[in-house]
Amino acid sequence: MDGANLFDYREVVGPDVIEELTILASHVGGRTIKMVNSTAVGGGVAEMLHRIVPLLNELGVKVSWEVIKGDEPFYEITKSFHNGLQGKAQIFSEDEFEKYLSVNRMNAKEFIFEEDLIVIHDPQPAAMILHKSNMKNRWVWRCHIDLSRPNAQLWQFLRPTIEKYDAAIFTSPLFSPELAIPQYQFFPAIDPLDDKNRDLEESYIDGVFEKYGIPRDKPVVTQISRYDPWKDPVGVVQAFKLARKYVDCRLLLVGDKAADDPESDKILELVRNEAGNDPDIHILLFSPSIPLEINAFQRGSQVILQKSLKEGFALTVAEALWKGRPVIGGAVGGIPAQIIDGHTGLLVHTVEGASLAIRSLLNQPELAMRLGENGKRRVRNEFLITKKLKRYLLLLLALDKPRGTIFLD
Ligand code: UDP
Repeated sequence: MDGANLFDYREVVGPDVIEELTILASHVGGRTIKMVNSTAVGGGVAEMLHRIVPLLNELGVKVSWEVIKGDEPFYEITKSFHNGLQGKAQIFSEDEFEKYLSVNRMNAKEFIFEEDLIVIHDPQPAAMILHKSNMKNRWVWRCHIDLSRPNAQLWQFLRPTIEKYDAAIFTSPLFSPELAIPQYQFFPAIDPLDDKNRDLEESYIDGVFEKYGIPRDKPVVTQISRYDPWKDPVGVVQAFKLARKYVDCRLLLVGDKAADDPESDKILELVRNEAGNDPDIHILLFSPSIPLEINAFQRGSQVILQKSLKEGFALTVAEALWKGRPVIGGAVGGIPAQIIDGHTGLLVHTVEGASLAIRSLLNQPELAMRLGENGKRRVRNEFLITKKLKRYLLLLLALDKPRGTIFLD
């Protein structure tokens, strides 16, 4: 149900939660926000903005969303910024920094920043703040990646820019670097009523597996993620091959290509090489994928993997838990906030660990079911979009008193 309104969420979260949002909104209603990021489709940030923007508008906060424009070399550079900020050792050239700044400068000329609050998502558009002219509004940098151990050269370049913001938001305190500005924590969230997460008929799920030629004659173990080294798709294939020596199953890898990701073709080739001609391994590439079909893949799988080596949050984990699936996740980034090991899923550190976890879940359906049920409860309490709306409303209040002690939870 795309375009669900607030009232529709009462069924899922209960009327009290909606009433609380309405009361909070009455204190900040009429204010304006501009969200800025680097892609309208693909990846978790765009996914989330598509829902949060209309719902905040419904609550009376006027929110607009703009996407910056960049050419291929710019996205190559911001991709390496992304990797560098997550700790990859590499040297950046002055030309790369200059290109990054010039694309930000060009975009800033096209935008009018007159809203009360400007929320800039991730590093790609972060330098737009250098062109801030309205001195009264507040600017917040929303960082969705792990910045706890950034590449030193890159961080030396970016840090003074980030410190021009009024505040920064991180997915976890574990991800935040030392900064001279206030920091807040926002968990990401999923929308239980959108096509990615709403209930589906079993016949539709069957149809999707059939459409892509994936027999359901044996359990299907699935990872849905961009073909990115941090998502470790090669490790997923290796873990599957080890597990399949002991328990018969299929592997489904689903990934789509974001407009700002030039690296995925290379990774996909490595994955295909690792998979060889194994008829039980199914590798799909979409550009972009269809949310209802992703939903069907998640619901129709016996086990969901998210074997990341480095992660922001992993919306895919929340999505799968919400569907009551048992999830195996890499013990990195925001995944342990969602998966409490042995209670709402299984955390793993290695290929061998992932393969053992696959075997445990396929051999013990009761364990799998219990983890799935607990996981669904955890998502209901912490990771639904209504919680996210509350955090944005509290942020507007908190920015009135930036040095005050306000917990956004
Ligand atoms: N996704 C999708 N199709 C794909 C792969 C991923 O729709 O082929 C979605 C996935 O369901 C999730 C989002 O893209 O909603 C990815 O968010 P996540 O936080 O897991 O990872 P990111 O790509 O942002 O690192």
